Amino acid sequence: MAEPAAAVQARSRPGTFARAWAKAVSGTSFLPMTQEQLEALLQRLTDDLAAALLAEPFDLRPGHRVGTELVAHHIASAEGLGRTVEVVQLRLVRDLGLVADDVEDRMARLLAAVATGYARALRDRTLDEQESIRRAVMKARTQAERALRDSEARFRHQATHDPLTDLPNRVLFTERLTAALNEPGRGARRVGLCFLDLDRFKVVNDSLGHQVGDRLLAAVADRLRRALDGHLVARLGGDEFVVLVEGTGGTDDVVAVADAALAAVGEPALVDGHELSVTASIGIVERQIAGTTPGDLMRAADSTLHWAKAAGGARWELFDAERNRRELARYALSAAIPAALERGEFYLDYQPLTSLRDGRLLGVEALVRWRHPELGVLRPDSFIGLAEETGLIVPLGGWVLAEACREAEGWSAHGGSAPFVSVNLAVRQVHRPGLVQEVRGLLERTGLPPERLQLEITESTMMSTTEEPVRALRVLADLGVRIAIDDFGTGYSNLAYLRDLPVTELKVAGEFVAGLRAPAVEPASRTDERILASLVSLAHALDLTVTAEGVETARQAERLRAIGCDAGQGWHFGRPAPARRILERIG
Ligand code: C2E
Ligand code: CA
Repeated sequence: MAEPAAAVQARSRPGTFARAWAKAVSGTSFLPMTQEQLEALLQRLTDDLAAALLAEPFDLRPGHRVGTELVAHHIASAEGLGRTVEVVQLRLVRDLGLVADDVEDRMARLLAAVATGYARALRDRTLDEQESIRRAVMKARTQAERALRDSEARFRHQATHDPLTDLPNRVLFTERLTAALNEPGRGARRVGLCFLDLDRFKVVNDSLGHQVGDRLLAAVADRLRRALDGHLVARLGGDEFVVLVEGTGGTDDVVAVADAALAAVGEPALVDGHELSVTASIGIVERQIAGTTPGDLMRAADSTLHWAKAAGGARWELFDAERNRRELARYALSAAIPAALERGEFYLDYQPLTSLRDGRLLGVEALVRWRHPELGVLRPDSFIGLAEETGLIVPLGGWVLAEACREAEGWSAHGGSAPFVSVNLAVRQVHRPGLVQEVRGLLERTGLPPERLQLEITESTMMSTTEEPVRALRVLADLGVRIAIDDFGTGYSNLAYLRDLPVTELKVAGEFVAGLRAPAVEPASRTDERILASLVSLAHALDLTVTAEGVETARQAERLRAIGCDAGQGWHFGRPAPARRILERIG
């Protein structure tokens, strides 16, 4: 369809104007469009302006719209407006060949409208921009705050949880325990702890590797968490876990938790294709909150855990204040041994070992005593056991050996045949390298003949897996030192085994001898006597002499003599006493 000639001309001409306009404004601000797009835009606005100039009646609104659109398309600077006003004023009417009566007047008012629309749009846009900047700032701030909070939370989580099991760690546990103990209105409230440790976990680690060990720990942690829902379960490190039981009504509540924990741990776990069965030991403490501290509770639970371990594991034990007090006292006593040695608080009593054949004094057993500055004279039973456990028996036993050799050497000066001195040796002393040199050195220094020293060792000392103790004792026996097996009958009582050992004497435990107190007509007493009799004859067949311990009555002594027992020791022959009393007997 053919267009009217005037219209064709009218459209081609604004093209020139629009291009001139585009040239004028480009560069006045950053425009996110191509030159072509800009020209097309300005072409449309040119058409609008031209139409407005000629419109009847004259209307300013298109001028506002043009101003607004310019800003909307980012021609939005003072410069851009200035150039626009200039190019429209100078060229629009001329370039488009517009004809109207009051064109100049209309042009002025239209441009004013463009400027107003432009300014308003610019103001709105600035406000919008400010608003969006404000919003962006706010958003950024909230995000930053959240990120900070998140990272703080993450950091706190890391600081208070164990990475392997994700259970609370010692830090969080201590916090929670402290908080539980400081709760307001705490007066009559009670709290409980289960201190749990896996039994023989080290074996898993050593035999299957740490990775399997770690997985097992994670599995155990998982089960504890599920089984003890509602109670704080923490991992203190290694295979140690602890459960905080708040608001208890008595020990039963914590025992129930411990039972649940043992059951949870006890289920076999499949780890890396290995079906692993583990057990645990638990120390339970439950008490009133008032007057206790986290440290007290943890120490109590820890000691109790050790009782559970010592009793064989796979169980819980309940804290017992009296037992704890006894153990602490025992521990304090053993810790005081080195200082007591230095202050010379130990001394030896001697107890006769008497021949049952002729009543001669054959030897004496050295028995250590402790003249404690506060507790008075202490018998060995109250400190030897723990000294053996802690290893303090080595210096203490060394002192006994030296003191016994020193005193015994002096007895030969009193004429007659001086008795040998029999010294108890703890397992640790025998297993320690250097025993041979120690004894040899003592004999040399004191001048005590080797035959006048007897060493009393227990059967278990000899049942060792290593050959070393036996070799050492053999060297000593070759020197002439007597070796006696102490408390025979309370351990393995393996006579055949003794055949290969450098032993000279058996000391039969007092329990066997005790049966001989009763009249010989009693069947039990006769049985004991028969056992003893066969023991004696077996010992004699192995070239061993037999000394009966714990002989308290003349009747016992007589019956022992009758079955061929060589010697006796006990109250009937004399109580342990200081060396000078022994001297009276040989003098
Ligand atoms: P043991 O080797 O069995 O020593 C004999 C214990 O029985 C002594 O107790 C002694 O006083 C006691 N006793 C003696 N005769 C009778 C009796 O007729 N009836 C009764 N019921 N008991 C009697 P003590 O002196 O208290 O020694 C206890 C244990 O301490 C000893 O038992 C010994 O195993 C250990 N011991 C003593 N001194 C030492 C030492 O220097 N080193 C080591 N390693 N252990 C020692
Ligand atoms: Ca003994």
